[in-house]
Amino acid sequence: MDSAEKILNLVIIGSGPAGCTAAIYASRAGLSPVLVAGPDAGGQLVTTPEIANWPGEADEPSGFELMDKLQKHAKKLGTEFISDKVVKASLKTDPKELTLGSGRVLKARSVIIATGAKARYLGLESERAYKGKGVSACATCDGFFYRGKDVAVAGGGSAAFVEALFLCRICRKVYLIHRRDGFRAEKALIERFKDEVKAGKAELVTPAVISEVKGDGQKVTGVHLEFKDGSARDLEVSGIFVAIGHDPETALFKDEIETDEQGYIAIGHGAETATSVPGVFAAGDCADRVYRQAITSAGQGCKAALDAEHYLS
Ligand SMILES: Cc1cc2nc3c(=O)[nH]c(=O)nc-3n(C[C@H](O)[C@H](O)[C@H](O)COP(=O)(O)OP(=O)(O)OC[C@H]3O[C@@H](n4cnc5c(N)ncnc54)[C@H](O)[C@@H]3O)c2cc1C
Repeated sequence: MDSAEKILNLVIIGSGPAGCTAAIYASRAGLSPVLVAGPDAGGQLVTTPEIANWPGEADEPSGFELMDKLQKHAKKLGTEFISDKVVKASLKTDPKELTLGSGRVLKARSVIIATGAKARYLGLESERAYKGKGVSACATCDGFFYRGKDVAVAGGGSAAFVEALFLCRICRKVYLIHRRDGFRAEKALIERFKDEVKAGKAELVTPAVISEVKGDGQKVTGVHLEFKDGSARDLEVSGIFVAIGHDPETALFKDEIETDEQGYIAIGHGAETATSVPGVFAAGDCADRVYRQAITSAGQGCKAALDAEHYLS
Protein backbone atom coordinates (compact mmCIF):
# COMPACT_ATOMS: atom_id res chain seq x y z
CA MET A 1 0.00 0.00 0.00
CA ASP A 2 1.55 3.43 -0.77
CA SER A 3 1.40 6.35 1.64
CA ALA A 4 -1.30 8.06 -0.46
CA GLU A 5 -3.74 5.30 0.57
CA LYS A 6 -2.79 4.52 4.15
CA ILE A 7 -3.62 6.86 6.99
CA LEU A 8 -0.42 8.46 8.22
CA ASN A 9 0.23 9.50 11.82
CA LEU A 10 1.67 12.86 10.93
CA VAL A 11 2.28 15.01 7.88
CA ILE A 12 4.61 18.01 8.25
CA ILE A 13 4.17 20.81 5.72
CA GLY A 14 7.41 22.70 5.09
CA SER A 15 11.15 21.90 5.12
CA GLY A 16 12.57 24.97 6.88
CA PRO A 17 14.05 24.88 10.41
CA ALA A 18 10.58 24.37 11.98
CA GLY A 19 9.53 21.51 9.67
CA CYS A 20 12.88 19.70 9.82
CA THR A 21 13.12 19.94 13.61
CA ALA A 22 9.55 18.67 13.95
CA ALA A 23 10.53 15.79 11.64
CA ILE A 24 13.58 14.91 13.77
CA TYR A 25 11.54 14.77 16.98
CA ALA A 26 8.56 12.98 15.41
CA SER A 27 10.84 10.37 13.81
CA ARG A 28 12.52 9.69 17.13
CA ALA A 29 9.10 9.34 18.73
CA GLY A 30 8.29 6.57 16.22
CA LEU A 31 5.56 8.51 14.40
CA SER A 32 6.98 7.76 10.90
CA PRO A 33 6.28 11.32 9.71
CA VAL A 34 5.96 12.32 6.08
CA LEU A 35 7.30 15.81 5.23
CA VAL A 36 6.14 17.78 2.19
CA ALA A 37 9.12 20.02 1.33
CA GLY A 38 7.24 22.68 -0.63
CA PRO A 39 8.40 25.13 -3.29
CA ASP A 40 11.51 26.19 -1.32
CA ALA A 41 13.30 23.08 -0.06
CA GLY A 42 15.16 24.09 3.12
CA GLY A 43 13.12 27.26 3.57
CA GLN A 44 14.20 30.89 3.76
CA LEU A 45 17.73 30.26 5.02
CA VAL A 46 19.04 28.54 1.90
CA THR A 47 19.71 31.83 0.12
CA THR A 48 21.82 33.24 2.95
CA PRO A 49 25.63 33.05 2.52
CA GLU A 50 26.48 33.01 6.26
CA ILE A 51 24.58 32.05 9.37
CA ALA A 52 26.32 33.58 12.37
CA ASN A 53 23.81 32.87 15.13
CA TRP A 54 22.99 29.15 14.99
CA PRO A 55 24.22 27.77 18.35
CA GLY A 56 27.28 25.57 18.02
CA GLU A 57 28.08 26.70 14.45
CA ALA A 58 30.78 29.32 15.12
CA ASP A 59 32.28 28.75 11.64
CA GLU A 60 29.26 30.47 10.09
CA PRO A 61 28.01 27.87 7.61
CA SER A 62 25.95 29.00 4.63
CA GLY A 63 22.19 28.68 5.03
CA PHE A 64 22.25 25.97 2.39
CA GLU A 65 24.83 23.92 4.34
CA LEU A 66 22.92 24.29 7.60
CA MET A 67 19.57 23.30 6.08
CA ASP A 68 21.18 20.41 4.19
CA LYS A 69 22.38 19.05 7.55
CA LEU A 70 18.93 19.42 9.13
CA GLN A 71 17.22 17.68 6.20
CA LYS A 72 19.78 14.84 6.18
CA HIS A 73 19.33 14.43 9.95
CA ALA A 74 15.54 14.08 9.59
CA LYS A 75 15.89 11.65 6.66
CA LYS A 76 18.46 9.54 8.54
CA LEU A 77 15.99 9.14 11.40
CA GLY A 78 13.32 7.92 8.97
CA THR A 79 11.27 10.92 7.85
CA GLU A 80 9.93 10.43 4.32
CA PHE A 81 10.47 13.63 2.29
CA ILE A 82 8.15 14.40 -0.63
CA SER A 83 9.33 17.03 -3.16
CA ASP A 84 5.96 18.61 -3.83
CA LYS A 85 3.69 21.22 -2.33
CA VAL A 86 0.30 21.10 -0.68
CA VAL A 87 -2.29 22.78 -2.91
CA LYS A 88 -5.42 21.97 -0.90
CA ALA A 89 -5.94 21.19 2.77
CA SER A 90 -9.03 19.73 4.43
CA LEU A 91 -8.10 19.87 8.09
CA LYS A 92 -11.46 19.54 9.83
CA THR A 93 -12.11 16.05 8.45
CA ASP A 94 -10.96 12.84 10.12
CA PRO A 95 -8.53 11.84 8.75
CA LYS A 96 -7.24 15.16 7.49
CA GLU A 97 -6.60 15.32 3.74
CA LEU A 98 -3.80 17.13 1.96
CA THR A 99 -3.80 17.31 -1.83
CA LEU A 100 -0.39 17.73 -3.44
CA GLY A 101 0.48 19.44 -6.72
CA SER A 102 0.84 16.02 -8.35
CA GLY A 103 -2.77 15.21 -7.44
CA ARG A 104 -1.71 12.72 -4.76
CA VAL A 105 -3.81 12.90 -1.59
CA LEU A 106 -2.18 12.33 1.80
CA LYS A 107 -4.42 11.29 4.69
CA ALA A 108 -3.22 11.89 8.22
CA ARG A 109 -4.34 11.83 11.83
CA SER A 110 -2.32 14.93 12.59
CA VAL A 111 -0.64 17.76 10.70
CA ILE A 112 2.11 20.26 11.55
CA ILE A 113 2.01 23.43 9.46
CA ALA A 114 5.50 24.96 9.10
CA THR A 115 5.08 26.98 5.91
CA GLY A 116 7.03 30.07 7.06
CA ALA A 117 6.62 33.67 6.02
CA LYS A 118 8.01 35.86 3.27
CA ALA A 119 9.54 39.28 3.86
CA ARG A 120 8.14 42.03 1.66
CA TYR A 121 10.66 43.82 -0.51
CA LEU A 122 10.50 47.11 -2.41
CA GLY A 123 10.21 45.35 -5.76
CA LEU A 124 13.19 46.94 -7.51
CA GLU A 125 15.28 44.99 -10.01
CA SER A 126 18.48 46.39 -8.43
CA GLU A 127 17.23 45.25 -5.00
CA ARG A 128 16.77 41.68 -6.31
CA ALA A 129 20.29 41.76 -7.78
CA TYR A 130 21.87 42.58 -4.37
CA LYS A 131 19.77 40.33 -2.09
CA GLY A 132 22.24 38.66 0.27
CA LYS A 133 24.98 41.05 -0.99
CA GLY A 134 23.94 44.04 1.11
CA VAL A 135 20.15 43.89 0.81
CA SER A 136 18.56 42.14 3.80
CA ALA A 137 15.18 41.92 5.48
CA CYS A 138 16.55 40.98 8.91
CA ALA A 139 18.83 43.17 11.03
CA THR A 140 18.98 40.59 13.84
CA CYS A 141 20.29 38.07 11.28
CA ASP A 142 22.64 40.19 9.19
CA GLY A 143 23.33 43.41 11.16
CA PHE A 144 26.50 41.87 12.59
CA PHE A 145 28.12 41.91 9.12
CA TYR A 146 27.84 45.72 9.00
CA ARG A 147 29.68 46.59 12.22
CA GLY A 148 31.15 50.10 12.04
CA LYS A 149 29.59 50.76 8.61
CA ASP A 150 26.84 53.07 7.35
CA VAL A 151 23.50 51.41 6.59
CA ALA A 152 19.95 52.35 5.63
CA VAL A 153 16.62 51.00 6.84
CA ALA A 154 13.51 51.32 4.65
CA GLY A 155 10.13 51.53 6.41
CA GLY A 156 8.08 53.59 8.82
CA GLY A 157 6.41 51.11 11.17
CA SER A 158 7.52 49.82 14.57
CA ALA A 159 9.50 46.98 12.95
CA ALA A 160 11.57 49.48 10.95
CA PHE A 161 12.37 51.47 14.11
CA VAL A 162 13.25 48.32 16.07
CA GLU A 163 15.62 47.27 13.27
CA ALA A 164 17.10 50.78 13.05
CA LEU A 165 17.66 51.02 16.82
CA PHE A 166 19.30 47.58 16.84
CA LEU A 167 21.62 48.72 14.02
CA CYS A 168 22.47 51.97 15.86
CA ARG A 169 24.24 49.82 18.47
CA ILE A 170 26.44 48.14 15.83
CA CYS A 171 26.82 50.48 12.87
CA ARG A 172 28.51 53.84 12.41
CA LYS A 173 25.43 55.61 11.06
CA VAL A 174 21.86 54.50 10.35
CA TYR A 175 19.60 56.29 7.84
CA LEU A 176 15.90 55.57 8.27
CA ILE A 177 14.18 56.17 4.93
CA HIS A 178 10.40 56.45 4.76
CA ARG A 179 8.15 57.44 1.88
CA ARG A 180 5.86 59.53 4.12
CA ASP A 181 6.51 62.27 6.69
CA GLY A 182 4.48 60.53 9.41
CA PHE A 183 5.21 57.15 10.99
CA ARG A 184 2.95 54.27 12.04
CA ALA A 185 5.49 53.22 14.69
CA GLU A 186 5.07 53.37 18.47
CA LYS A 187 5.82 56.85 19.79
CA ALA A 188 8.41 55.56 22.28
CA LEU A 189 10.43 53.94 19.48
CA ILE A 190 10.34 57.13 17.42
CA GLU A 191 11.54 59.13 20.44
CA ARG A 192 14.41 56.70 21.06
CA PHE A 193 15.44 56.95 17.42
CA LYS A 194 15.33 60.76 17.62
CA ASP A 195 17.77 60.52 20.53
CA GLU A 196 20.12 58.63 18.21
CA VAL A 197 19.65 61.39 15.62
CA LYS A 198 20.60 64.01 18.22
CA ALA A 199 23.67 61.93 19.12
CA GLY A 200 24.75 61.97 15.44
CA LYS A 201 24.31 58.18 15.10
CA ALA A 202 21.24 58.35 12.86
CA GLU A 203 19.28 60.41 10.35
CA LEU A 204 15.63 60.44 9.31
CA VAL A 205 15.24 60.82 5.55
CA THR A 206 11.61 61.59 4.56
CA PRO A 207 9.48 61.64 2.47
CA ALA A 208 11.82 59.72 0.22
CA VAL A 209 11.49 56.75 -2.09
CA ILE A 210 14.39 54.42 -2.82
CA SER A 211 14.42 54.26 -6.60
CA GLU A 212 17.65 52.28 -7.00
CA VAL A 213 20.01 50.14 -4.96
CA LYS A 214 23.51 50.86 -6.17
CA GLY A 215 26.40 48.43 -6.15
CA ASP A 216 29.72 47.47 -7.70
CA GLY A 217 28.48 44.14 -9.03
CA GLN A 218 29.59 42.30 -5.85
CA LYS A 219 28.01 44.30 -3.03
CA VAL A 220 25.82 47.28 -2.21
CA THR A 221 27.52 50.67 -2.27
CA GLY A 222 24.54 52.98 -1.83
CA VAL A 223 20.96 53.95 -2.58
CA HIS A 224 19.46 56.55 -4.89
CA LEU A 225 16.59 58.47 -3.28
CA GLU A 226 13.87 60.57 -4.89
CA PHE A 227 11.91 63.14 -2.92
CA LYS A 228 8.33 64.41 -3.43
CA ASP A 229 9.58 67.88 -4.46
CA GLY A 230 11.45 66.33 -7.39
CA SER A 231 14.90 66.50 -5.80
CA ALA A 232 17.18 63.47 -5.45
CA ARG A 233 19.99 62.29 -3.17
CA ASP A 234 22.57 59.51 -3.24
CA LEU A 235 23.48 57.91 0.07
CA GLU A 236 26.65 55.86 0.45
CA VAL A 237 25.74 52.80 2.51
CA SER A 238 27.06 49.23 2.72
CA GLY A 239 23.74 47.68 3.66
CA ILE A 240 20.06 48.28 3.15
CA PHE A 241 17.56 46.67 5.51
CA VAL A 242 14.03 46.48 4.13
CA ALA A 243 11.53 46.51 7.01
CA ILE A 244 8.14 46.90 5.38
CA GLY A 245 6.47 43.78 6.75
CA HIS A 246 6.15 40.02 6.26
CA ASP A 247 3.43 37.85 4.75
CA PRO A 248 2.85 34.47 6.42
CA GLU A 249 2.39 31.61 3.93
CA THR A 250 -1.02 30.61 5.24
CA ALA A 251 -3.57 31.50 2.53
CA LEU A 252 -4.09 27.79 1.89
CA PHE A 253 -5.44 27.25 5.40
CA LYS A 254 -7.48 30.41 5.91
CA ASP A 255 -10.91 28.73 5.76
CA GLU A 256 -9.73 25.80 7.87
CA ILE A 257 -8.05 27.28 10.94
CA GLU A 258 -8.05 30.50 12.92
CA THR A 259 -5.50 33.15 11.94
CA ASP A 260 -4.95 36.70 13.16
CA GLU A 261 -5.77 39.73 11.00
CA GLN A 262 -2.38 39.49 9.25
CA GLY A 263 -2.76 35.79 8.48
CA TYR A 264 -0.45 34.39 11.19
CA ILE A 265 -1.83 31.09 12.49
CA ALA A 266 -3.38 31.40 15.96
CA ILE A 267 -1.89 28.81 18.33
CA GLY A 268 -2.16 28.05 22.04
CA HIS A 269 -5.51 26.28 21.83
CA GLY A 270 -4.71 23.98 24.76
CA ALA A 271 -1.19 22.89 23.85
CA GLU A 272 1.28 25.65 23.00
CA THR A 273 1.43 24.88 19.25
CA ALA A 274 -2.17 23.64 18.87
CA THR A 275 -4.31 25.49 16.32
CA SER A 276 -8.09 25.91 16.48
CA VAL A 277 -8.50 22.46 14.85
CA PRO A 278 -7.70 19.41 17.01
CA GLY A 279 -4.73 17.48 15.66
CA VAL A 280 -3.39 20.43 13.67
CA PHE A 281 -0.31 22.19 15.01
CA ALA A 282 1.73 25.14 13.71
CA ALA A 283 5.36 26.12 14.17
CA GLY A 284 7.84 28.72 13.00
CA ASP A 285 7.38 31.95 11.10
CA CYS A 286 3.84 31.06 9.92
CA ALA A 287 2.71 31.34 13.55
CA ASP A 288 5.22 33.84 14.92
CA ARG A 289 4.93 37.50 14.07
CA VAL A 290 7.53 38.55 16.63
CA TYR A 291 10.79 36.56 16.67
CA ARG A 292 11.09 35.04 13.14
CA GLN A 293 14.49 33.39 13.68
CA ALA A 294 15.78 29.99 12.59
CA ILE A 295 16.40 28.91 16.18
CA THR A 296 13.00 30.03 17.47
CA SER A 297 11.34 28.27 14.52
CA ALA A 298 13.31 25.11 15.24
CA GLY A 299 12.32 25.32 18.92
CA GLN A 300 8.69 25.64 18.00
CA GLY A 301 9.02 22.73 15.56
CA CYS A 302 10.24 20.62 18.47
CA LYS A 303 7.25 21.69 20.58
CA ALA A 304 4.82 20.94 17.73
CA ALA A 305 6.19 17.40 17.34
CA LEU A 306 5.88 16.79 21.09
CA ASP A 307 2.33 18.21 21.04
CA ALA A 308 1.42 15.99 18.06
CA GLU A 309 2.90 12.95 19.81
CA HIS A 310 0.81 13.72 22.89
CA TYR A 311 -2.32 14.21 20.74
CA LEU A 312 -1.80 10.90 18.93
CA SER A 313 -1.25 8.97 22.14
C1 LIG B 1 17.71 36.47 3.74
C2 LIG B 1 17.38 35.90 5.09
C3 LIG B 1 18.41 35.71 6.02
C4 LIG B 1 18.11 35.18 7.26
N1 LIG B 1 19.14 34.97 8.13
C5 LIG B 1 18.90 34.43 9.33
C6 LIG B 1 19.97 34.17 10.24
O1 LIG B 1 21.12 34.46 9.96
N2 LIG B 1 19.63 33.61 11.43
C7 LIG B 1 18.35 33.29 11.78
O2 LIG B 1 18.13 32.77 12.87
N3 LIG B 1 17.33 33.54 10.94
C8 LIG B 1 17.57 34.09 9.73
N4 LIG B 1 16.53 34.35 8.88
C9 LIG B 1 15.17 34.03 9.32
C10 LIG B 1 14.94 32.53 9.15
O3 LIG B 1 15.31 32.15 7.85
C11 LIG B 1 13.49 32.19 9.40
O4 LIG B 1 13.09 32.66 10.67
C12 LIG B 1 13.29 30.68 9.36
O5 LIG B 1 13.74 30.14 8.14
C13 LIG B 1 11.82 30.32 9.54
O6 LIG B 1 11.74 28.94 9.52
P1 LIG B 1 10.38 28.19 9.17
O7 LIG B 1 10.71 26.75 9.18
O8 LIG B 1 9.31 28.68 10.04
O9 LIG B 1 9.98 28.66 7.70
P2 LIG B 1 10.78 28.76 6.33
O10 LIG B 1 12.24 28.68 6.49
O11 LIG B 1 10.20 29.94 5.65
O12 LIG B 1 10.30 27.45 5.55
C14 LIG B 1 9.00 27.35 5.07
C15 LIG B 1 8.87 26.05 4.32
O13 LIG B 1 7.50 25.86 3.98
C16 LIG B 1 7.43 25.34 2.68
N5 LIG B 1 6.10 25.62 2.13
C17 LIG B 1 5.50 26.82 1.92
N6 LIG B 1 4.29 26.62 1.36
C18 LIG B 1 4.13 25.27 1.22
C19 LIG B 1 3.10 24.45 0.69
N7 LIG B 1 1.98 24.96 0.18
N8 LIG B 1 3.28 23.10 0.70
C20 LIG B 1 4.41 22.57 1.23
N9 LIG B 1 5.40 23.30 1.75
C21 LIG B 1 5.27 24.63 1.73
C22 LIG B 1 8.57 26.00 1.93
O14 LIG B 1 8.95 25.25 0.80
C23 LIG B 1 9.65 25.98 3.02
O15 LIG B 1 10.36 24.78 2.95
C24 LIG B 1 16.78 34.87 7.62
C25 LIG B 1 15.75 35.06 6.69
C26 LIG B 1 16.04 35.57 5.45
C27 LIG B 1 14.92 35.78 4.45
